[in-house]
Amino acid sequence: MEEVFVLAEHRQGKIRDITNEMLGIGESMANQRGASLTAVLLGHGVKDFAEDLALRASKILVVEDENLEYFNSILYQKVLSSLISKYNPFLTLLGHTAFGMDLAPSLSVELDFPLVTDCIGLSIEDNRLKALRSIYGGKVNASVSLRESKGYIATIRPGISSPKAPGEKKAAIIMEPSPLKGAIDFKKFIEYIEAPITGEDITQAEILVSVGQGIGGPENIPMFEELAKNLGGMISCSRPVVDRNWLPKERQVGISGKTVKPKVYIAIGISGAFQHITAMQGSDTIIAINKDPKAPIFTVADYGIVDDFKNVIPILKEKTTGGLK
Ligand SMILES: Cc1cc2nc3c(=O)[nH]c(=O)nc-3n(C[C@H](O)[C@H](O)[C@H](O)COP(=O)(O)OP(=O)(O)OC[C@H]3O[C@@H](n4cnc5c(N)ncnc54)[C@H](O)[C@@H]3O)c2cc1C
Repeated sequence: MEEVFVLAEHRQGKIRDITNEMLGIGESMANQRGASLTAVLLGHGVKDFAEDLALRASKILVVEDENLEYFNSILYQKVLSSLISKYNPFLTLLGHTAFGMDLAPSLSVELDFPLVTDCIGLSIEDNRLKALRSIYGGKVNASVSLRESKGYIATIRPGISSPKAPGEKKAAIIMEPSPLKGAIDFKKFIEYIEAPITGEDITQAEILVSVGQGIGGPENIPMFEELAKNLGGMISCSRPVVDRNWLPKERQVGISGKTVKPKVYIAIGISGAFQHITAMQGSDTIIAINKDPKAPIFTVADYGIVDDFKNVIPILKEKTTGGLK
């Protein structure tokens, strides 16, 4: 039976969200082909992960090797390509993450399989893989069709799909021997360094007042800080605000900043580039204030105000002075 492979991603003792998101996409692709869904787990001491994944896929392939304890694209490639050569999955999914971006291109070259990266949708048409990719900072969606091949590799953008919920049936866990012959010294993991948290931690906020380049300049920051204070929340921002030194890096939301899931996320003067949206779209309620009605942020907003922030913020501040009523 044909298979879809999903490479499980884990870091610091945790399965990453992208793994379960890919399992959801992998299942729908497997259903389109009458294929089965296989989670591939590489690591060291990953038995608990295998048990968890066994409730979300039809089969789990595990390669245990102390040299796989930390992600290393060269070692991962060796192991993954040997599993692909053995099982011949028609599709292998990797996260469009630092791991996947490092691993997918060389894996595709080694196997001579077409690769499509940063996908937001996948389907099979006329026996070919078709992918939807969002390009030009989210302004255009491109539908691409890959050449016919016995196998494909795709990297999936994080946050575009809901995680696959655990089922009741437990899949078989198959231990595969490691093809590795020891460590390599020219590329190795040295240390995991967590970015230090100084001051407030925006990932813990229930309400975030998040500002973008559209606020015009640092002189306007106090207005938003006051609003955040009235709401019992914190201030966060998009990347250009940090690049321009209007706010410190620890306030940045996005793929190169922090991922946040507050109860309320108020995006002010933020256009909604995917690098930003990916990291805040899990918020319970999103409110966007932007003077451009076509700004992509409105595609993820629950409530939208199309106006200049200078007309809106004073009213919000007035209504929230003394706290939320
Ligand atoms: C590798 C990489 C990593 C990145 N990582 C991140 C990241 O982690 N986080 C991140 O945010 N970005 C990141 N970016 C940048 C991202 O692509 C966008 O450039 C950025 O998110 C845009 O920020 P913005 O929305 O604040 O600014 P802009 O795109 O300039 O948008 C400003 C918005 O404000 C609106 N506006 C202007 N004036 C007003 C007004 N008076 N009232 C109301 N609205 C107004 C405009 O209509 C516009 O929509 C990354 C980019 C790359 C290439």
